[in-house]
Amino acid sequence: MSTKKDAQVSCSICGAALDDFFGTYPNAVCRECDGRAVNADGHPPAHDTWADAGDNPVFIDGVKCWRRYRFGGYVTMRDMHNCSNISEFYELHMPERLGRRKKNAK
Ligand SMILES: [Zn+2]
Repeated sequence: MSTKKDAQVSCSICGAALDDFFGTYPNAVCRECDGRAVNADGHPPAHDTWADAGDNPVFIDGVKCWRRYRFGGYVTMRDMHNCSNISEFYELHMPERLGRRKKNAK
């Protein structure tokens, strides 16, 4: 609900304040909302901490989200464009970051 989205990172589902850590991820979701996530079959999402893999996408209150599995944990991010895979999610939600990979010197 806050309009200060530049000053503070907030959950893209409920608007709760998030740690700065989440600021590097687009449309991050807080742990409380994440706790309601289910997979495409309506079951609690699987998470293999050894392989850094798990179900994708997941759904929170019917909202499609993608999880970035990393270092035995994950960050859940809200999908605003109904993407078909997480690569497409990054392309559509982080165009600036992708653009920076190109060789356009400052
Ligand atoms: Zn939340």
